[in-house]
Parts: sequence; structure tokens; C-alpha cells
Amino acid sequence: MKVGKVGIGLDLGSTAIKMVITDGEKILCGLSTATAPGQEEIGRQLIARGLESLDLKPEQVGSITTTGYGKKLYSAADLNMDEISANAAGIFRLSRGQARTIINIGGQDLKVITLDNDGKVLDFRMNDKCAAGTGRFFELVSRLLDTPLSEFGDLAGNSGHEVQLSSTCVVFAESEIISLLARGVAREDIIHALHASVARKVAAMMGRTPHDDAIYLDGGPARNRGLVEAIEDELLCDIMVLDDPQFTVAFGAAIARQLSAPTDKP
Ligand code: ADP
Repeated sequence: MKVGKVGIGLDLGSTAIKMVITDGEKILCGLSTATAPGQEEIGRQLIARGLESLDLKPEQVGSITTTGYGKKLYSAADLNMDEISANAAGIFRLSRGQARTIINIGGQDLKVITLDNDGKVLDFRMNDKCAAGTGRFFELVSRLLDTPLSEFGDLAGNSGHEVQLSSTCVVFAESEIISLLARGVAREDIIHALHASVARKVAAMMGRTPHDDAIYLDGGPARNRGLVEAIEDELLCDIMVLDDPQFTVAFGAAIARQLSAPTDKP
């Protein structure tokens, strides 16, 4: 492939490890795999597969930046970056400077990040004490309903009946789902209720963050269209989702060197 030096970002998340190769503007390749022991080797393999798929040589790599909770677990990194800064940088660049609020739903936390007009982080809030409103909650429901997460969006669209689920506690929600299933409630309705419950949690986290600013949702659960619609219904505004919402944090890390490099501009 004919590119100069590429940047690599490795997001060692609580649930998934994501790797992005970029030319600085777009995601040339994004690969992910489940988080497991041996993260150094997993990272190395993802990078090797990515370079091979683009027909790039290791000499063409300008820098490798890690982020995510396991960012120190990859020893060959040139830089480590915190997830909030990587998320802000990634979404701001990919949205071409439009984003002002980011809602990130990860495997084990939910974050709301606000940006200024230059993409600098003004404020952030994080809920990592409770699984309600996180990817873990989705995984639990996926197991209870024996239904892959990739089908949740379409199934929620077929829901015809309103049922309610707790949005404050996953332990309560789990027993609620078990009794709904015992009553014969359709899984479409349970998934619809799950999305509404997570949307209420997001709205509570948003607090008084202005709802008229460009709001971008990212993280793995942003791949679920049904969740995006539920958040739009709860906040009464549009929510933007970029093409590869699970790779935006890794992309922010991949452009880190570029952002920190001295420029010719006065
Ligand atoms: P982390 O960075 O904390 O590892 P991610 O942003 O990678 O988290 O998101 C992981 C979560 O993404 C999983 O817990 C799961 O709920 C969700 N997820 C993964 N694949 C899909 C999919 N195809 N559709 C919807 N949600 C998904």
C-alpha cells in the first residue's frame, strides 16, 4: 500500500482489545478481539495481521500508542495515553471538528465527555461503579435471552409491548428479566425495555449537559441501532454514530504522535 508512515493505536479495553492503523485522517484498518490474559501477545498479533492486510512493512510504522485500562501492558508502545484524551481526539478528528459531547459506553463503564470548539476536554463524568448502563449489562441480557448482541437492534424494532426494567441495578434487572421470561414476555419486548433502561441511565449521566450540541455515541454498544434510537427518544435530540464506533478511541491513540509533534505553524 502506498502511504508514508502510519500511526497505530492499541486500545486495551476491559472487554475488547482494538487496534487501528491510520494515515492520520481515516481508519485504514481496525481489528478487535476479546480481552484475555497475554495482552502483549494479542496486541502484537493484531498489529501483525493489520500490517499484513494493508501490505505494509513494520518499518512503515511511525508510532504505536496504547490506551485503555491495559495501556501499560504492551511494552513496545512509544506512548501511553489516557482513554478520555484518546476518545476526545479520535471523535473530534473523525467528526471533522463537529463533536461537542461524547457518550462512550464501554464494557464496564459509561462516560460523558464535553469538548470545547478546539476539541479540548472541558469536563467528563464516569460511572464505573455499577454495571447498569454498560456493555456488561448487554452481555448479561444476551446470555439470558440466548441472542447475539448483533441482533438486538432489529429485534427491538419489532417490539410491540411496553415492559419496564430497572435502570439502577443489574442484579435487580436480571431477576426482572427471569420473571418476564417466565411470564412469556417476548424477547423483543425485553430488549426494547433494556434499551430504554440504558437510555435513562445515559440521560441521568448527561445531567445538564446541553442537548442541542453535536452529541456522538461511541464504544461497542453504539453498534446497536436500537440503543441509539432509545437514547434519541429519551434525550429528544439526534445522536450521531460514526462508521466504526468501537474503534474511535484506538483511532485517537493512533493519531497521538501527530497531535504532539511540533508543527511548522507559528
Ligand atoms: P471496552 O473498551 O471497555 O473493552 P468496548 O467499547 O470495546 O469496551 O465495548 C464492549 C461492549 O460492546 C461489549 O460489552 C458489548 O456489550 C458491546 N458489543 C460488542 N459487539 C457488539 C455488537 N455487535 N452490537 C452491539 N454491542 C456490541
